[in-house]
Amino acid sequence: MATGAKGCKELFSEVIETGLCALCGACTGTCPYLVYYKGRIALLDNCALLKGQCYEYCPRTYIDMDVISQQVFGVPYSEEELGTAKEMLMVRSTDASMREKVQYGGAVTTLLSLALAEGFIDGAVLTRTSDDKTPSPFLAQSADEVLQCTGSSYMACPVLGRYNQIPKDNGNKLGLVAMPCQVLAVAKMKKDPPENRASIGNVKLVIGLFCTWALSPDRFYQFLKENLDLSKVKKFDIPPPPANRFDVYTASGRTSFPLEQIRKFTMPTCTYCLDMTSEFADISVGSVEGIEGWNTVIIRTDIGADLVEMAKKKGKLQIDKLPSANLTHLKEASLLKKKRALNEIVKKSGDKNNLLYVGLSPRLADKLLA
Ligand SMILES: Cc1cc2nc3c(=O)[nH]c(=O)nc-3n(C[C@H](O)[C@H](O)[C@H](O)COP(=O)(O)OP(=O)(O)OC[C@H]3O[C@@H](n4cnc5c(N)ncnc54)[C@H](O)[C@@H]3O)c2cc1C
Repeated sequence: MATGAKGCKELFSEVIETGLCALCGACTGTCPYLVYYKGRIALLDNCALLKGQCYEYCPRTYIDMDVISQQVFGVPYSEEELGTAKEMLMVRSTDASMREKVQYGGAVTTLLSLALAEGFIDGAVLTRTSDDKTPSPFLAQSADEVLQCTGSSYMACPVLGRYNQIPKDNGNKLGLVAMPCQVLAVAKMKKDPPENRASIGNVKLVIGLFCTWALSPDRFYQFLKENLDLSKVKKFDIPPPPANRFDVYTASGRTSFPLEQIRKFTMPTCTYCLDMTSEFADISVGSVEGIEGWNTVIIRTDIGADLVEMAKKKGKLQIDKLPSANLTHLKEASLLKKKRALNEIVKKSGDKNNLLYVGLSPRLADKLLA
């Protein structure tokens, strides 16, 4: 259902206290009262504003998917499993030394480095994992700094709080690498631009990651600390099914945990998330099941298409057709996430007509709930 003017009070009662917060960071960074603290959003003092951008841009407050999609793509929300898309490809970096540092094929790092080199963007808000393996948002302004951010931290990280801190009069062109929930918040900002932070028009490139779920930064980090010498860890990975493992790589090899042991640290909000492939990004990037060292890339906008084309022309990316079996499976997984999440939302709200934050056409909602 659509909302009237709401602010911080409702953000807490409808999102934070109900387990819907994704820790995306959209409500932090400019507000003096809301801060990210030890894996949660904390309120430092009462806010008297009745209407707040904290509520407005939260990806778990009401979103009319058709309106947002019109804003980003110029068409209503796609009923396709993977959302609005121009092309699906399989890619990897042509730079063998880079491929040793990245999560899979290095599509994200390659595209960002190229975008910086070509002056397409002046900086990008990324997630950097520190030596103690905590992820934090980071504004990278050189190819070197982009390289410092390679690899996946599977813990939620308030990336948008860093974007919000960029001053209003900063004219730099920006890139963002974000999870589906964060991409949704950015799409909301594009619809109704914020007044007190760097213009959303400065955001020239949104690279969205695929995501089935993210882990709670406080509880999961505690688990990691208890079970590993984190100073030795080089990489985390969740290989595609049927592996059913969470892998940790160190110089001396691989330690694996059964996924059941890890799943209990999943952010509760992920149960209610419909988006597996960052449907409102310019380019979405994930793994390629069964083909190591490559990325699946979904190109969604002209900007995304231009950048991938440039990477191809300059020999930065090796590009191949995504095998049809992979595409079919990706579509099935994405549809399953939508159906499962919508059914969980109905269980939570107790009413088939109350889809909490999800504003879908009744026809599509019925289709997904069937
Ligand atoms: C929580 C999480 C869940 C994921 N789930 C899936 C999945 O189910 N299926 C799938 O195919 N892929 C998933 N991915 C994406 C995958 O792990 C890779 O990030 C993606 O394929 C890009 O690979 P790459 O080789 O281009 O990465 P790289 O070139 O190494 O770049 C990785 C980028 O990821 C960003 N990043 C790292 N950690 C985070 C974080 N916590 N939040 C936001 N950004 C981050 C960094 O800023 C970096 O720029 C997930 C990623 C995350 C963070």
